[in-house]
Amino acid sequence: MTASKLPRIQKVESFIISIPRDTPYLGPLGPGEQINARGYLVRQGNRTIYPSTDMSVLVKITAEDGTVGWGETYGIVAPQAVTSIIDDVLGPVILGRDPSDPMVIQEDLYDLMRVRGFSGGYYGDAIAGVDIAVWDLYGKCVNLPVVKLLGGQRSTRIPAYISGLPGKTLDERLALARSFQARGFKAFKYAAAVSFDGIVEEMRALREGLGPDVELMVDLHWKFTAQEAIQLIDRLMPWRPCFVEAPCAPEDAEGQAQVGARVRVPLALGEEWHTLYEYRSRMERRSMSIVQPEMGHTGLSQFIQIGRMAQAFHMRVMPHASIGLGIFQAASLHAAAALPNCPMHEYQHSVFDRNLRFVRTRMRCADGHFELPEGPGLGIEPDDSVWQYLRPK
Ligand code: MG
Repeated sequence: MTASKLPRIQKVESFIISIPRDTPYLGPLGPGEQINARGYLVRQGNRTIYPSTDMSVLVKITAEDGTVGWGETYGIVAPQAVTSIIDDVLGPVILGRDPSDPMVIQEDLYDLMRVRGFSGGYYGDAIAGVDIAVWDLYGKCVNLPVVKLLGGQRSTRIPAYISGLPGKTLDERLALARSFQARGFKAFKYAAAVSFDGIVEEMRALREGLGPDVELMVDLHWKFTAQEAIQLIDRLMPWRPCFVEAPCAPEDAEGQAQVGARVRVPLALGEEWHTLYEYRSRMERRSMSIVQPEMGHTGLSQFIQIGRMAQAFHMRVMPHASIGLGIFQAASLHAAAALPNCPMHEYQHSVFDRNLRFVRTRMRCADGHFELPEGPGLGIEPDDSVWQYLRPK
């Protein structure tokens, strides 16, 4: 084996960032919703907890020669769980490692706790953050964008779909969608968790208001049994949904497969899964025809393998996007640009645009497309201005 000349990993650090926002993610507080003493709220529509700020975990890996790689992962709730795993377990284990071994490092970290059953959850998120930082460091050390290290670059732009239409009323949500349509966006997804006027009514209003030339999608937020979902999706059909997301509880693999087999619209699944293993069983059952890997859960090493396995099953990849500073979003664009089967990427406009001022990057989303960052590695760095929002661990 020829030894790599790259500088070895010398230091691994993690940071919690919490950026205040006026309107919570997914829109204003609904009936029965309030922000608790820890800054969280529970959405009544899907019984899920969300932060009232943009919370995220950053990972900084420094090599012997001072080169720095940045990663990011989910810090949406209890971010200390993730930083504790990174600081106590993952970081110390990879000191001295060669940054040109990212997939090997990811597999080694996964194996550390496998026998104890920690293969996902906060453990998986922590690995994802470290993995993204190792890839960024690798790219910087060899002076190549990460997409080139993933097998090659197919594009510099990825079509974006608008995710979520935060607004108190249906009229406000339609007006927001129209403003994006006027700026060149052609695909829109709304969220059942905050669809206060009814899921069918919202799709009808969007189709009638936006016209025949846009794509419409709905995230059902795991709310339904299989039969309820089949019935509901039938009622959506007159308004031609492009895909329907997450109809049944994540635990209900049978229900997902049943819905996938019965409905006449593509199903999209996967934002909550961390590894190939979770995807594989659903792919074999043909539960969905679109997979939605979330970079903050999978990291680059798993993401690219999931995307290529999806291609082997003739499925599309439409990556998930979540609350973050933009670093895992950039990683997701690099992976998307390397894949042959990625027609659209989710665009969390209410998070992405407001947090761009806290990163240095050429990454943008305009005219219905994401522009990939440029430069070696991921092409994105935290700006100094973000450190005012550093939260104590
Ligand atoms: Mg979703």
